[in-house]
Amino acid sequence: MPIVAVLLLWSLLLAQPAARVQSQAFDVRGAARGVQPGEVVRLTIDTATRFETLAVEAFGVEFQPYRVSDTRWQVLIGIDLDVAPGRHVVSFVGTHPPETFLTTRTLIVEPKEFRTRRLTVEPQYVEPPPDVADRIVREAERLNAIWASRTPERLWVEPFVRPVPDPPNSAFGSRSIYNNVPRSPHGGTDFLSPTGRPVRSPNHGRVVLAEDLYFTGGTVVVDHGLGLVSLFAHLSAISVRPGTVVAPGDELGRVGATGRVTGPHLHWTVRLNGTRVDPLSLVEVSTMPDTAATPGLLP
Ligand SMILES: [Zn+2]
Repeated sequence: MPIVAVLLLWSLLLAQPAARVQSQAFDVRGAARGVQPGEVVRLTIDTATRFETLAVEAFGVEFQPYRVSDTRWQVLIGIDLDVAPGRHVVSFVGTHPPETFLTTRTLIVEPKEFRTRRLTVEPQYVEPPPDVADRIVREAERLNAIWASRTPERLWVEPFVRPVPDPPNSAFGSRSIYNNVPRSPHGGTDFLSPTGRPVRSPNHGRVVLAEDLYFTGGTVVVDHGLGLVSLFAHLSAISVRPGTVVAPGDELGRVGATGRVTGPHLHWTVRLNGTRVDPLSLVEVSTMPDTAATPGLLP
């Protein structure tokens, strides 16, 4: 939220006799691998009273907190690839009718250097033939609608697990140059998996897409709830259908080399309230304890 908006919100709250601006009503701790573009930060918010609702906003994005106990909430915050390094305000608005409580914290986002990778793929994936132009636009619109969806209930539980046992072989966020043509940065993590390797769901969720797409080939998208979504690409076989409810470890399909690829591997994308974050950051943060002094999180 821009500073001006925060100040405006504060003045609005102060103008109402019932509203309280009380930072001491909140204790915020965090867990993160780092505070950089592409990272997930989990915040734990302890409150003095039982809030009926809590809203959390950062980088102009509303993230969905969930209740852990009467006076404890948690929220996963995604630092998108394009977030500029520097100080960013995280705002918290809690309600305990008739009172409203507000506080802010500052997140200091450190810069991150992303590698550049050069790949050679079949030409139709760099300069697609005109007859697939409509298909590409339609598929992009469908995926954008999924990234924008906000299933109100949380289906996932900690921890998130890796979908395959193989090592990752390509970094999240790499600047990608296909056949000497720059394309959007790599918005996921690739695993060096052989064709046929079962791809297992990293957590609970509901399948919202299971079909062949132009760039991502055999594709399965799992909605974990509260704006957290996983996409698995380049599959050689798909074992689920839209609507299938999955649990951690359930088979979603098999690794393949379909779509825009140089060879067999598994591509895993995670979107958190639309932000592009590293799936491995989600996996690591989901097993981390909170620390009182989270680097980069200031009062
Ligand atoms: Zn990939």
